Amino acid sequence: MTRMAARKRIALVAHDAMKPAIVAWASRNREILSKHELFGTGTTGGKVAEETGLEVTRLRSGPLGGDQQLGAMIAEGRLDILIFFNDPLTAMPHDVDVKALLRISTLEQVVIACNAATADFIVASDMMTGAYTPREDEAAHAG
Ligand code: PGA
Repeated sequence: MTRMAARKRIALVAHDAMKPAIVAWASRNREILSKHELFGTGTTGGKVAEETGLEVTRLRSGPLGGDQQLGAMIAEGRLDILIFFNDPLTAMPHDVDVKALLRISTLEQVVIACNAATADFIVASDMMTGAYTPREDEAAHAG
């Protein structure tokens, strides 16, 4: 678990049906997002960058390994927040990758939002503007 700096490293991911929603959410929160470092799976990152003008480092498309790239970043302590608008109504060919991403995020105390309401609470938090260190005694592997 890594200490988060004031400038958070945030990943944006949305399944196809949710892409308009994440673009709308990112546009509405453009100001705050511009203060942080953004990553995205290929298509999501491209759409958000195009529609908002925000700088987004694009990984591979989710089904082509983008979720796994994010998982690797998390395992290496290189991501703080995951905004993941997953589609609750459609089965995904890369469901195992989605599960793995959520599992490693949970394990590593990554801050996770799976819908816009939760994402709103996160970006409104005072903790967005300061450093934060997850507590070892509250971790999944706390002894
Ligand atoms: P995409 O990937 O942004 O490249 O579409 C997201 C996903 O479907 O996991």
